Amino acid sequence: MAMLLKGGPVAAALTEKTAALTESLVIRGITPTLAVLRVGERPEDLSYERGAMKRCAAAGVAVRSAALPEDVTQETLMETLEDLNQDEAIHGILLLRPLPERLDGEAARQALRPEKDVDGVTDGSLAGVFTGSGQGFAPCTAQAVVVLLDYYGMEMRGKRAVVVGRSLVVGRPAAMLLMERGATVTICHSGTESLPEITRGADILVAAAGCMGMVGPEHLAPGQTVIDVGIHQEPETGALRGDVCFEAAEPLVKALTPVPGGVGAVTSAILAMHTAQAAKRRL
Ligand code: NAP
Repeated sequence: MAMLLKGGPVAAALTEKTAALTESLVIRGITPTLAVLRVGERPEDLSYERGAMKRCAAAGVAVRSAALPEDVTQETLMETLEDLNQDEAIHGILLLRPLPERLDGEAARQALRPEKDVDGVTDGSLAGVFTGSGQGFAPCTAQAVVVLLDYYGMEMRGKRAVVVGRSLVVGRPAAMLLMERGATVTICHSGTESLPEITRGADILVAAAGCMGMVGPEHLAPGQTVIDVGIHQEPETGALRGDVCFEAAEPLVKALTPVPGGVGAVTSAILAMHTAQAAKRRL
C-alpha cells in the first residue's frame, strides 16, 4: 500500500510561514493583495478562485476579484490588466486561463507586470525557472510538485524523474525544477512512443497529461513515487479524479498523491506565499 502524500499538511505548513511574513508586512502598513482576473464563469475557474481565496484568507493575504463577462472585448481585458498592473495596492495578479478562444490569451499573459506575475506565466518568469536564476516566480503547480516531494523527504538528487506533459503551466517548469534539484529528467508528451516502458523506469513519476486515469498499471512499477497533477470531474458521479488510476497505483507504488487533496491544495498555498513574497520584494 502506497504512502499517501497528502497536500493538506504541506499547505498548512506553507500557510503558517506565509501568515508570519504577512503579519510582519501588515505591521509596516502593507497588506499583501492578490487580484484574480477571471473571464466568464467556468466551473473550474470558480472552483480554483474559491480555493485560492480560502487559502489566501488563512495566510492573511487579501484577494480582490476582477470578474469580466464572457463576451468581454480584448480591449477591455487589456485595460483591466493594465489597471491591475498600475494599482499599487495589488502585489500579485492571477489570470485564470484558458481564456475564451476568441481572446488573445498570449497578449494577456505577456502583459502582466513581471513583479506581479505570481503564477509564473510570463516568458520572463519562465526564463527564471529555466535558467535557475531564481528571478520571478515559478508556476505554482510546478513548484507544488517539488515542494510536496521536499516536505515528505523524497530525495530528488540522482533519481530518474519522468514528467508526462510538456505544457508551459505544469510539465516543462516541473521538469526544470526537478532537474534543478538534481534529478535526471525525461519529458513525455502525446508523441512519445513506448510511454509505459519509459514511465516504468521512473523513480519519480509526475503525471500532468490532463487525461483522466490514463496512467494505469502498465505505466507503474513498485518503489515509485507518483505525483498526480491531473484534476478531472467524473461525468457520471461528479467525483474528482487524477491522471493516475488510483486503484491501480495505490497497491503497487511506494508513495502517491491523492486527488483531490494532493497537489491542488499545495498550489493555492504557494500562490498565497508568492503574493506575500511579491509584497515583500516591493519594499
Ligand atoms: P495541457 O496544457 O493540456 O497539457 C497536457 C500535456 O500532456 C501536453 O504536453 C500533452 O502533449 C501531454 N499529453 C496529453 N495526452 C498525453 C498522452 N496520452 N500521453 C502522453 N502525453 C500526453 O494540460 P496542463 O495545463 O499542463 O494540465 C495538466 C493537468 O494538470 C490537467 O488535468 C489540469 O487540470 C491539471 N492541473 C492541475 C493543477 C493543480 O493545481 N493541481 C493546476 C493546473 C493544471 P502534447 O504537448 O504533445 O499535446
